[in-house]
Amino acid sequence: MTTNKKDPNILITGTPGVGKSELSRLLSERTNLIWLDVSKLAVDNKCLESYDQNYQCQILNEDKLLDLMEPMMCEGGKIVDYHGVDFFPERWFDIVFVLRTNNTILYDRLDSRGYTGKKLEDNIDCEIFQTILEEAKESYKEEIVYELQNDTLEQINDNINRICEWIEQWKIDNQ
Ligand code: ADP
Ligand code: MN
Repeated sequence: MTTNKKDPNILITGTPGVGKSELSRLLSERTNLIWLDVSKLAVDNKCLESYDQNYQCQILNEDKLLDLMEPMMCEGGKIVDYHGVDFFPERWFDIVFVLRTNNTILYDRLDSRGYTGKKLEDNIDCEIFQTILEEAKESYKEEIVYELQNDTLEQINDNINRICEWIEQWKIDNQ
């Protein structure tokens, strides 16, 4: 988005359980960027419609959510945390990070979150087939889409450091 925003907008995406919210929270503490947990934003602002029994999840009213987010995104300085990528306007984001997690580690994280059966399997398949990475590459210019491995606490720290360095460079390039 080529406006005169002071801070970039960052999309943190990936399969449920890869650590988007943990990384976004820590990043928002380290920077002046604001963390938008899209799932929470949708619930808090009644952007959910019916419940999908098959997938055991709520169906999102995307138009309502996009209208809500538009002015926030125009301000800049947002860390958007969501497991979907394809319905956001491309112009919103300066960079997209797709978090990745080893299948065994992801399985344990989702299991401890109480996921079972089809929901657990679908999410593991989503990670194995790199579904969100592919969607991200289709939805944004490939040169702004980065994969970050996020299995360990050491890696989450490295990832945050890397994103902070990128933010500093963005500020230099866009001042
Ligand atoms: P998401 O928002 O992508 O669904 P969360 O941020 O809720 O994932 O993380 C899922 C679980 O994994 C949480 O218990 C979190 O503390 C843990 N976690 C996230 N990233 C890491 C990491 N790099 N190393 C170890 N545990 C992690
Ligand atoms: Mn989350």
